[in-house]
Amino acid sequence: MRLDFCAACGRIVLRGFSFCPYCGTALKTGSGLEEALERPFERLDAMQSGERERRVDELLAELDALELDMDEFLHASEPPHTPSSGQALGPAADKQRA
Ligand SMILES: [Zn+2]
Repeated sequence: MRLDFCAACGRIVLRGFSFCPYCGTALKTGSGLEEALERPFERLDAMQSGERERRVDELLAELDALELDMDEFLHASEPPHTPSSGQALGPAADKQRA
């Protein structure tokens, strides 16, 4: 980004110009626009990387929750340890008996 502001008319001019092409005012070099333009981007980068980290944390938390759900589901689908008085066996048991 090699741009500068003309202090007189406020237009953007290429850095390195000695005079503003719009109003002819002598430009002082190194007015700091480059820094002013780049600093917010650095901040944005920092914000985005922070956002990414937070998102990853959220995803990991979701994954943990999912694993817990999965555990619960798997355990819930297992047959209970003590079926109530053999009724859970159903018709198949009747056939075997007959
Ligand atoms: Zn100017």
